[in-house]
Amino acid sequence: MPRPILATIHPQALRHNLEQVRRAAPDAQLLCVAKANAYGHGVEHAFQGLRAADGFAVLEIAEAQRLRALDWRGPILLLEGVFEPRDLELCSRLGLWHTVHCDAQIDWLAAHKTQVPHRVFLKMNSGMNRLGFTPERFRSAWARLNALPQVEEISFITHFSDADGPRGTAHQLQVFEQTTHDLPGERSLSNSAAALLQGTREAVRGDWVRPGIVLYGSSPDYPTHTADHWGLQPAMSLTSQIIGTQQLHAGDTVGYGSTFTAEGDLRLGVVACGYADGYPRLCGTGTPVLVNGVRTRLLGRVSMDMLCVDLTPVPDAQLGSEVVLWGRSPRHGSVLSIDEVAAAAGTVGYELMCAVAARVPVVSDEDALRP
Ligand SMILES: *Cc1c(COP(=O)(O)O)cnc(C)c1O
Repeated sequence: MPRPILATIHPQALRHNLEQVRRAAPDAQLLCVAKANAYGHGVEHAFQGLRAADGFAVLEIAEAQRLRALDWRGPILLLEGVFEPRDLELCSRLGLWHTVHCDAQIDWLAAHKTQVPHRVFLKMNSGMNRLGFTPERFRSAWARLNALPQVEEISFITHFSDADGPRGTAHQLQVFEQTTHDLPGERSLSNSAAALLQGTREAVRGDWVRPGIVLYGSSPDYPTHTADHWGLQPAMSLTSQIIGTQQLHAGDTVGYGSTFTAEGDLRLGVVACGYADGYPRLCGTGTPVLVNGVRTRLLGRVSMDMLCVDLTPVPDAQLGSEVVLWGRSPRHGSVLSIDEVAAAAGTVGYELMCAVAARVPVVSDEDALRP
């Protein structure tokens, strides 16, 4: 028998979450973000639940190729554009839209020989200070692109730094609108947080919303709002089993560094999941875990291949009992939000789902349904 740890993808949850975003941005089209191997879910698994997308946004051409191999004929945007001139060949062949954020990318396009004119998304640095042309340089970049026979259509893209926080999006939106107001073309501004929190303003939604994290069922502004608040369902469940138990007495300690000491009798379960599976080592005593669908807590330090949990609330737990590290209990239905686990490690749900290790098998719970 293989080690019992497993990441299960729920395409039905992806479908549901996609619907939630549609409801928040009813007049926009959705470029579902599937970078980082669909936030760790696997492009192929995620695609099962995201077929109703209007398009996909990825980082790597290999991810775009995988979508085309799944027979996806709709739009695919490369969020950072091409990394070298010969990538443009593949853009032509695969019909990819690509972001243009710097002069070098315009130079490469100008030198590119193609029968297929490209659709590009000209990126503005409206205050994030990551990729993009500053407002001062944006219009000259547009004029250069607009003069190229290789370019068929120019759209405008920018990215918000504070859509999930008190600073909000107004300052960047103003810069973006001021700079582009008389330029023809579609607009894409919002990530998940902007779509859900700022989405009541049509200008923020633009023509193409770029939802990522919400699709996968994590709240874009936890802990202000939970995934439940946004009506999101976990698209991934990381599950394992109890592979050992110990009976502790007052004064007994647990694991490396003896960071937990039992105050009295306590039954401990050993779970086949450690930091080499991508579970954060920074999660300490008290981090929530589900055993047989019942919420309990992690004890002591996470080690490479194992972690320990308190079985006090689950007296019937034994060898082979189901453990949910995050997501939905397959047998009991209860849910443990990845956001809670991430918060216990001082990070965000994004990082946990992207960091599930290669040794953890990833399956879709709809694979069995296919003929
Ligand atoms: C990753 C990314 C997104 C999606 O962000 P979420 O917070 O996951 O919704 C949108 N736009 C760009 C440019 C990105 O890099």
